[in-house]
Amino acid sequence: MAEPVEGNRVEGNRIASPHRRVVLKISGDGFTQPGARGISMEAVVQLAAQIVRAAENGPQIAVVLGGGNILRGAQFTAASRGIREATAHYMGMVATVINGLALQDALEEMGCETRLMTAIRMDGVAEPYIRRRAWRHLEKGRVILLAGGTGSPFVTTDTAASQRALELEADILLKATRVDGVYSDDPERNPHAVLYSELTYEAYLQQNLGVLDREAVTKCMQYGLPIRVFNFKREGNIERAIRGERVGTLIRSASRHE
Ligand code: UDP
Repeated sequence: MAEPVEGNRVEGNRIASPHRRVVLKISGDGFTQPGARGISMEAVVQLAAQIVRAAENGPQIAVVLGGGNILRGAQFTAASRGIREATAHYMGMVATVINGLALQDALEEMGCETRLMTAIRMDGVAEPYIRRRAWRHLEKGRVILLAGGTGSPFVTTDTAASQRALELEADILLKATRVDGVYSDDPERNPHAVLYSELTYEAYLQQNLGVLDREAVTKCMQYGLPIRVFNFKREGNIERAIRGERVGTLIRSASRHE
């Protein structure tokens, strides 16, 4: 059994999560095979299976969907003539809805009650994101999937995740990514990069680390919301993070305890 976080209760052979409500940000990379683009339902089903297991008697879960497996606005504008940057960002937001639809079906196939909500209205496809309605779904034990980012261009879904975590009063923002956590340098380029188990918001910002948007970290710092960054590719990690186990890196203020 994994090491419980300080203050966790043990229920049967399971560690009870210290979290009541979590926001889980899943990067677009989680929806495809390593190095590939587009959607792989095999990858989506793996994500869904972990979410379903974690949701059983676990905390309330809101998933914020990334879209980078399909399109990232800034990269797309840089590489393409004839597209305005704002338009490319809207394309990126729509990409997150595509991921949301896939994840919704995978979750429902596994018997998990789910609602897909979008920050850009798409009434024929999903519910509009309304904070109070999202709150209600969570209270009813539904996993909510939040697509369309913030609904505004020029930011990323990390910022959307911090925004949703704050307004839904989540205990923690969980960022599922393809590296093991926060490193002193880019581990994909520097083999000597060191993995932190914990660091403060200030240290993260000072070192100009790239795994999570500065804007998102700054927002969380302002309100003392802890962030856990972890590798979704390691089997069971999403479930562990949701259950409050020490995977990856925890970013928080020096004095605050999770
Ligand atoms: N996006 C946006 N506003 C938002 C969220 C996302 O304009 O509030 C666009 C932006 O272009 C971004 C793309 O949607 O690059 C896909 O999201 P993101 O890059 O965050 O996906 P991830 O890297 O998590 O896969």
